[in-house]
Amino acid sequence: HAGWIEVVCGSMFSGKTEELIRRVTRAVIAKQRVRIFKPHIDVRYDANDVVSHNKNTVESIPIRHSKEILEKSEGYDVIAIDEAQFFDQDIVEVCCKLADQGIRVVVCGLDMDYKGQPFHPMPALMSIAEYVTKLHAVCMRCGEPAQFSFRTHESHSQVELGESDKYEALCRKCYNLANEK
Ligand code: ADP
Ligand code: MG
Ligand code: ZN
Repeated sequence: HAGWIEVVCGSMFSGKTEELIRRVTRAVIAKQRVRIFKPHIDVRYDANDVVSHNKNTVESIPIRHSKEILEKSEGYDVIAIDEAQFFDQDIVEVCCKLADQGIRVVVCGLDMDYKGQPFHPMPALMSIAEYVTKLHAVCMRCGEPAQFSFRTHESHSQVELGESDKYEALCRKCYNLANEK
């Protein structure tokens, strides 16, 4: 049988990792063989675990290149990938191949960078996925649903790890106001 691709996207603090952990936990309850990957650069809390902002955690395998996922996915029913925005563009083909092999692929990532621009491979992943879920954080300034990750400190590199010390989840209105200053 064929597999499929599920994308879970949204801003920082929107609950992507929580949702990944929820989906993985349910697959484990269903006695499926599950493996989780994340990019090697994401070592905010733990080198080998996927950890949400509220410190939920599941074991994961840090990798440097997306092609490694193919080599390490044999015999699994579900492959989950967190922080997919940090991977190279090959991740798109990798997810496709896994799904073609009958694997359910759950791939999570930031859909926009701090400038509000589409983030690396995420738009392509969203296009080829069977299912796309866009989550929202709570705007830190007004409480409305937030879809932007506003950078609160000076840095102009697209990839900048961090959390509430460096980023603020904002709605469109508050994001635009914050950028005017
Ligand atoms: P993501 O992986 O999308 O960055 P996580 O799943 O790691 O998000 O964290 C989601 C959790 O972050 C929420 O359940 C909540 O406890 C916490 N949180 C902190 N700030 C916010 C915010 N502004 N909006 C929503 N949740 C927030
Ligand atoms: Mg996360
Ligand atoms: Zn707002």
